[in-house]
Amino acid sequence: MFGLMQDRPLMIASIIRHAARHHGTAEIVSRGVDGSIHRQNYIALEARARRLVRVLQQLGVQPSGRVATLAWNGYRHVELYYAISGMGAVCHTVNPRLTPDDIAYIVNDAADVAIFADLTFVPLLAAVAPLLNGSVRAVVMLCSRAEMPDLPLPGGIALLCYEDLMAAADENFDWPEFDERTAAALCYTSGTTGKPKGVLYSHRSTVLHAMAVNGASVMGLRPDDRAMPIVPMFHVNAWGMAYSAIAAGASLVMPGRHLDGASVASLMNAERVTFSAGVPTVWLALLHHLRASGERLNTVKRLAIGGSACPPSLIEAFEREYGVIVEHAWGMTECSPLGVYNTYRSDIGDTPEAKLAWRAKQGQAIFGLDQRIIDDEGRVLPHDGVTAGNLQICGNWVCSAYYGQEPGSACDAEGWFTTGDVATIDQHGQMLITDRSKDVIKSGGEWISSIELENLALLHPDVAEAAVVAAEHPKWTERPLLVVVPKAGHEIDPEAVLAVLRGKVANWWLPDAVVVDTDLPHTATGKVSKLRLRQKYRGYLVERGV
Ligand code: ADP
Repeated sequence: MFGLMQDRPLMIASIIRHAARHHGTAEIVSRGVDGSIHRQNYIALEARARRLVRVLQQLGVQPSGRVATLAWNGYRHVELYYAISGMGAVCHTVNPRLTPDDIAYIVNDAADVAIFADLTFVPLLAAVAPLLNGSVRAVVMLCSRAEMPDLPLPGGIALLCYEDLMAAADENFDWPEFDERTAAALCYTSGTTGKPKGVLYSHRSTVLHAMAVNGASVMGLRPDDRAMPIVPMFHVNAWGMAYSAIAAGASLVMPGRHLDGASVASLMNAERVTFSAGVPTVWLALLHHLRASGERLNTVKRLAIGGSACPPSLIEAFEREYGVIVEHAWGMTECSPLGVYNTYRSDIGDTPEAKLAWRAKQGQAIFGLDQRIIDDEGRVLPHDGVTAGNLQICGNWVCSAYYGQEPGSACDAEGWFTTGDVATIDQHGQMLITDRSKDVIKSGGEWISSIELENLALLHPDVAEAAVVAAEHPKWTERPLLVVVPKAGHEIDPEAVLAVLRGKVANWWLPDAVVVDTDLPHTATGKVSKLRLRQKYRGYLVERGV
């Protein structure tokens, strides 16, 4: 056919090349492991990424070879993202919150040839190294010579210093163009069921995701923005922000390892952050800090919240008390991760109630991705905002097969990927997660939404965290049990919590017991571990004859 458009491969390196040329003075600000602040503009970032490619070549990294990172959000980690994938190798971000056994399993499974690690992870590396099966030849510490730790490693694994290697290398490297379907990054799901599984992103999927995320109805970052990903770069590429923010010419503020409310608030104000993204636990901690200290957020306009359901009370509190808009989002490792995003639109009404009802849902599918719900027999369900079903997605940044598996094996015959989430979708395509399918509570054959009950429990002023799990019941098979954690210095009266729920849900949804606990177990990705809670409370009702 004559007259077609150009066909250039979508390359990750084109993002920093563009940023260095057009947004060279935008900067990446990083708080180090020791609390110090480091600044580097995008011209320097691009040059150092080229220098790092020369280091990787000297270490023997080959195109398609896997290189692991064990690092917080910071400039060296961003250099690794671009250098590793830019030379055609695969950047394997490892979640340091996993156990040493799980880390060794995924490093061996990926056959990583080197591990680049922050100083904080020296004890972890000491525990993991003896479990490695021979693929790793070097551990490179992300520090200067003076900071090098004492870390004995098994024979065959060299301990190297990042800044020494960088100083000895040159920048004589031109970013190559190659097939956009080449693998670029690898991230393992945290394996809440079974062994962790690898999701392998391509250059194409990563660039398309970054472009989609930069859309005005999604994160929509601009050169004036100073964006702070609190979501870690080891958890689904910091929701793509290390790519999308740089592509947009927005500056990045990297918080490092200190993610408590006081540290986050002070960095946001000192570095004039306008946008940030993270899981609800981080924002709850920030809110508690702001309320207790009286500190304000001087420049933050928007916060994106996802990873687990965002309680409406949190959305409402940030807007009313701090003038900050909370944008709810849903995604998963298998979806790069963003799938749906919640942007307010005026046609849904401008009363506070209408706004909150809209914002509380997870959001609408991002252009480039499609979603639907099906029942257990595979029948497609209506988008009426009431019918709940198994959520499926498809699109150019959705996993087709897990790492090492047959192409298409993660999807059904029509190419739909089943997310493991249960959701409703309304006539606007606005999606609401009611549960993970494995967390659903089935009472007498009917489903009860744990998320809805948790959101209501959080309206009680003494409740800091809430989780609803299924407990065994002789008559109804399962009944909901509500576990609540009191705010510091507060006490909880279980009856008062139930009173908040009464009248807002059907009577048969009301939990059979409210248990006060001092702490909830969390997973490696910062979510409440329903698995461990269920194990703890499964027999609670039967044992007590409730
Ligand atoms: P992990 O399974 O290791 O936590 P993911 O980050 O891939 O890793 O988790 C994706 C899951 O997180 C989704 O399938 C969904 O259950 C949950 N999730 C993500 N965002 C939201 C949200 N906004 N509301 C409710 N659940 C969410």
